[in-house]
Amino acid sequence: MEDSFQHKGLRKRLIESLRVKGITDGTVLDAMDRVPRHLFMDSSFIKFSYADQAFPIGAGQTISQPYTVAFQTSLLNILPREKVLEVGTGSGYQTAVLLELKLKVFTIERQHELFLKSQSLLTRLGYKPHFFYGDGYEGIPAYAPFDKILVTAGSPDIPHKLIEQLRPGGIMVIPVGGDSGQKMLKITKTAGGFVEKEEHGNFAFVPLLKGKAS
Ligand code: SAH
Repeated sequence: MEDSFQHKGLRKRLIESLRVKGITDGTVLDAMDRVPRHLFMDSSFIKFSYADQAFPIGAGQTISQPYTVAFQTSLLNILPREKVLEVGTGSGYQTAVLLELKLKVFTIERQHELFLKSQSLLTRLGYKPHFFYGDGYEGIPAYAPFDKILVTAGSPDIPHKLIEQLRPGGIMVIPVGGDSGQKMLKITKTAGGFVEKEEHGNFAFVPLLKGKAS
């Protein structure tokens, strides 16, 4: 569980490379600079941990590419202490970034193995999100409404239950599309309950699947 001088140095370089690629939100970059990404990967080979690429984390899933984490988080227009729902806990890396932004985080994962693993790791690192094992496509109605919703798997459509669980004025960032790629959508729910959509480029995520896996 070590975060060495070398890890910190490589992380600074990664953050600089994200800036060069067009991420301008300093608050998001600073939050990412505080999260030891190598601890969220099975093999802690640092050359993979601090390269700007996605990486397998078991159960056929991946930890998102750092650029994607920075890009999605920036699109959320985060304000401190907001209540955020993350769909797809995966490795827990994005969860940690959200917690470093001083948010109240609810995170849901459908793969039991990943749910247990990320819960144990985040807890050991001192991060305290609210963990849920279940189908994030359904959201978490008992804790709605959320100020922000972040979906970290590619969804075939815009889940209407997630729109329902967004507060008026809230924002959802979600990659929408099929296996050949998704468009990043920033969806704003207006005060009147209408939905405004903006497209923010093409991405490739693992699919958002319905139901729980054991
Ligand atoms: N945020 C993660 C990204 C993991 S990849 C990270 O930083 O590592 C996407 C994750 O979404 C996978 O772990 C996958 O199991 C999960 N997932 C897919 N469909 C889901 C659903 N309906 N509900 C909850 N999690 C889901």
